[in-house]
Amino acid sequence: MNPFDEPPLRDELRGQTPYGAPQLDVAVRLNTNENPYHLPEVVADAILKAVHDELLELNRYPDRDAMALREDLAAYLGHGLTSAEVWAANGSNEIQQQVLQTFGGPGRTAMGFSPSYSMHPLLAVATGTKWLDSYRNANFELRPEHAMAQVRVYQPDVVFLCSPNNPTGTAISLDVVEAVASEAPGMVIVDEAYIEFARSGAESAVTLLPRFPRLVVTRTMSKAFALAGVRVGYMAARPGVVDAVQLVRLPYHLSSLTQAAARAALAHAPAALAQVDVIKSERDRIVASLRELGLTAVDSDANFVLFGTWPDQTVVWRALLDRGVLVRDVGLPGWLRVSAGTPAENDAFLAAVRGLG
Ligand code: PMP
Repeated sequence: MNPFDEPPLRDELRGQTPYGAPQLDVAVRLNTNENPYHLPEVVADAILKAVHDELLELNRYPDRDAMALREDLAAYLGHGLTSAEVWAANGSNEIQQQVLQTFGGPGRTAMGFSPSYSMHPLLAVATGTKWLDSYRNANFELRPEHAMAQVRVYQPDVVFLCSPNNPTGTAISLDVVEAVASEAPGMVIVDEAYIEFARSGAESAVTLLPRFPRLVVTRTMSKAFALAGVRVGYMAARPGVVDAVQLVRLPYHLSSLTQAAARAALAHAPAALAQVDVIKSERDRIVASLRELGLTAVDSDANFVLFGTWPDQTVVWRALLDRGVLVRDVGLPGWLRVSAGTPAENDAFLAAVRGLG
């Protein structure tokens, strides 16, 4: 092939594969940690009305600063936060990308503790930030002393923590966040995409913001709020950090329809979050049932469970798919991850696991 036919990729993108869980047409899809429930009707109606009210204004650009939405998000987060300490974008992935564009980038480094969310290193690479991989222990735990020591060695410009951690499911204790934030020379991002599903006792790192000026807590409406299709993520940070991120955000990045839909859902937060308790108890049922079957299931504070182990998880992934159940092979040898679905979906999953023999 003529070498000029090849697109002239940046060196660090060569050989990379795009992020992507298989989107297969399977009866039971438990592979992307979505909320399995449709929006409650009261929330859907409120979104419909809010979006309708925006329609005649769509000739205008949206509020570039998303002020009203940020106020609503601050109120939802509580802890006395104000809109100056909150920023919103198209999913928490975009928030994290913006933070890396602002505080990482060429000549700078970001680190995380594997296994963790696979987008963190991909976002680093995409923003020209060098990725440094550190590790959790064999039980997937992250201890404050270990995390702190790794930060001391690497001196990263950005540290990613994930709590509850994807794909392992367990929340980290605030001791870890405090240890890392005390030691880190740069920004510390705590990805709390699944925090609403945490077992009791897990506290948000938002409570640490008054003490750590370089802390960023990212959240999403994709999971507990069942709004993955809308694409709204947000962060809580000091006002100076929120201001800094304005330097890289695209103008009018968050559409009027997105802002309106998110605000309508937040106005009905208790209804929108009504299924969280059901999902948590189903998650606990999955953990208990897998253990009864003699498998290992990692303690989960999220809406998914990491389970195993097998000599080759790809064989098991395929066998479950053949039984109409799609789970996630996150590339962790021996392990698979299943999202908590509806009770019927979870029954189908557990029956398929039993059928493995
Ligand atoms: N963080 C974690 C840990 C996730 O698992 C996900 C979604 N899979 C995200 C962030 C991104 O979510 P969104 O962009 O939909 O907010």
